[in-house]
Amino acid sequence: TEAVPQAADVVVIGAGQAGLSAGYHLRRRGFVPAGDPAGGARTYLVLDAEDGPGGAWRHRWRSLRMSTINGIHDLPGIEQPDVEPEAASVDVLPAYFGDYEDELGLAVVRPVRVRRVEKADDELGDGGDGGHGDLLVRWEGRGSSGVITARAVINATGTWSKPFWPAYPGQETFRGRQLHTADYVRAEDFAGQRVAVVGGGISAVQLLEEVSHVAQTFWFTRREPVWRDSFDPEDGSRAVAMVADRVRDGLPPLSVVSVTGLIRTPSLRAAAARGVLDRRPMFARIASEGVVMPDGGLVPVDVIFWNTGFRAALDHLRPLGLRGAGGGIRMDGTQVDGEPRVHLIGYGPSASTIGANRAGRDAVNRIVRHLNDN
Ligand code: FAD
Repeated sequence: TEAVPQAADVVVIGAGQAGLSAGYHLRRRGFVPAGDPAGGARTYLVLDAEDGPGGAWRHRWRSLRMSTINGIHDLPGIEQPDVEPEAASVDVLPAYFGDYEDELGLAVVRPVRVRRVEKADDELGDGGDGGHGDLLVRWEGRGSSGVITARAVINATGTWSKPFWPAYPGQETFRGRQLHTADYVRAEDFAGQRVAVVGGGISAVQLLEEVSHVAQTFWFTRREPVWRDSFDPEDGSRAVAMVADRVRDGLPPLSVVSVTGLIRTPSLRAAAARGVLDRRPMFARIASEGVVMPDGGLVPVDVIFWNTGFRAALDHLRPLGLRGAGGGIRMDGTQVDGEPRVHLIGYGPSASTIGANRAGRDAVNRIVRHLNDN
């Protein structure tokens, strides 16, 4: 493997939909991959922790088909291949992303995981460098480690590597299996078992439906889910606007999907008719044999399946001290408010494939202006 360059004008962290969109727009604006012998032009690097292309789509369960995902927006510039609706997204999308990278010559560097991003001239640790100094991107991977000096960073690390597990008393005493959406492989693994499915989002209901064909399921949600018969684009826009308001105010984002409600697909209608979607309120604690309801009644289960969502994977940005009093990062579009060197894309209101595309373009446009001015 080639050596990872030690400097680039712009480092993109993550090569999912968001990172590839940023790469596309960097190329369009004349940036070349760092280390490219053609000197003179501005340089970029796209770093990715995976062994191959596809971002989080590499890890989704095989039964998540092109017909059962919500719909993927094309990457900028190249359309998705025509495939059977029954094709597995875990096959189709990584192949599409890989062809895309090759065709555009994006030169994604992988597997490389960024561990820390720091300010180069922050030796005093006071965080104050006026937003003009370089950033240091510290990475590990390929049996090695290193540091890249960058003028700006576009963070596109998604959420998949940060599954959210809520804490319930007694959790450590449970003798059965606990897993998260991110660990799910196939329904057959639960054949004949009693499975508690926790969560009210799309993954929760899709996997509840799937597992219910082979196992006895019990569905727990904190709130009564909101069901819709079809998806109204206006609801989508409203949801995106709401998340945008939150991150502008420095609050943690909610997932866009979590605020749009659940669609009654034909298979979910059938599941409802079988009683699978009879939801229970959240249990109060966990015992060795199962979950315990607020009234003290035990629901014996073999498995607790947490479909409780994901958080933005931003731990490597902690040295930058971006988080404010609201518990989130105050955003100005894709830019971290007051920090023109750091953009977050695929974050908050842009955490969808269409949002990620636009955010990649917006981030590159603003970074070009920042580089021109400094
Ligand atoms: P990802 O695809 O997660 O890519 C992030 C990349 O960054 C990964 O390759 C990861 O390895 C890498 N990375 C992470 N941390 C580091 C690090 N520290 N250093 C280096 N690399 C790192 N959205 C839709 O629009 N339509 C859908 O149908 C849809 N279905 C979904 C189904 C499921 C089950 C889930 C969980 C989400 C779905 N989404 C869908 C939301 C979807 O995740 C986003 O729309 C989009 O795919 C995310 O792209 P991304 O580039 O932000 O992140």
